[in-house]
Amino acid sequence: MSKGLLLVVSAPSAGGKGTILKELFQQDPNLRMSVSATTRKPRPGEEHGKHYYFVTREEFQEMVDDGNMLEYAEYVGNCYGTPKGPVERWRADGLDVVLEIEVQGGAQIKCVAPDCVSIFIAPPSMEVLEKRLRGRGTEDEETIQKRLETARKEIPHGKNYDYIVVNDRLEDAVADVRAILRSEKMKSERNAELIEKLLAP
Ligand code: 5GP
Repeated sequence: MSKGLLLVVSAPSAGGKGTILKELFQQDPNLRMSVSATTRKPRPGEEHGKHYYFVTREEFQEMVDDGNMLEYAEYVGNCYGTPKGPVERWRADGLDVVLEIEVQGGAQIKCVAPDCVSIFIAPPSMEVLEKRLRGRGTEDEETIQKRLETARKEIPHGKNYDYIVVNDRLEDAVADVRAILRSEKMKSERNAELIEKLLAP
């Protein structure tokens, strides 16, 4: 059985990656979502162990010190990190794993797992991004301004990703991500053993 893919998905805050991934997960039973640890407080409706592991700064630091984080970063005043164990176990079982992380973490993953596939979800315009961020209605004005400023700094990092998917129409963006997954699975470097098997006596 071949190792599962590691898919890194980044987008500026409110870039719509959550909606795209939700749809993708409904269509693809081979996908698993990594649950990150964060020091951020839960938003209404968010559950510990499902959306995030909500931890204290001390608990977060302990996970880092024990070498249990694949990557971690500070984002708008809070820490976020990917627990290593589940990602490695799922991939070994042939399941594809998605990391929904910001751009500093995305850059770290490229170093620790160079075989990962990275996708940057870009908004169609800055106006649309701002509208989506306000439409969420969960942040105060100061946080919205901070997130927009962060988005302007994040967008240039899109150039370092393997793929850029524009999130205009949801169905198109989901189809684009599925197409990427499908072709990545067919890459010759991931399928060398197929050729050997063909010629085996
Ligand atoms: P939010 O607070 O809106 O849930 O997430 C803020 C940002 O942190 C988003 O861009 C999200 O993708 C990112 N993020 C979530 N989990 C992780 C993680 O484990 N590592 C890193 N580097 N970023 C994360």
